[in-house]
Amino acid sequence: MLNLLFYHKQGLIDKHGRFNYNTIMKKKTWIWVLILAAVVLAGVIATIRISRRSGTYALITVDGELVERIDLSKVRESRDLVVETAYGRNIVHIEQGAISVTEADCPDQICVLMGKLTTDGGMPIICMPHRLMIEIEDDGLDG
Ligand SMILES: [Zn+2]
Repeated sequence: MLNLLFYHKQGLIDKHGRFNYNTIMKKKTWIWVLILAAVVLAGVIATIRISRRSGTYALITVDGELVERIDLSKVRESRDLVVETAYGRNIVHIEQGAISVTEADCPDQICVLMGKLTTDGGMPIICMPHRLMIEIEDDGLDG
């Protein structure tokens, strides 16, 4: 409400609460551009945060079919899981609280470069050529 009153005093908002674009354009436009950019950026960050999944289970799928579901919180000793399909071969490194692709025979190596996916959430690891996806199963508590 304070903000609206402030904008009203500045003539930036009319009595119907609508932005008065003529006044706004007369003011230092770049300030509004900066504010708009900040708002957009905040929205993007919020969206990314919401889309971040967190949970303890990692799901490994190939072509949308479940290969393995691992509770990362219960991994005592790190191990390597070889996922070999008609599409190719990936070595998935499983450790407590994290999972990553350490080796792959795909041409792009993006899955290897994506690094570790942890139980704190993050973008799924995807190997497009091998149709492999590793994601954290949403436990429903976060986001
Ligand atoms: Zn790959």
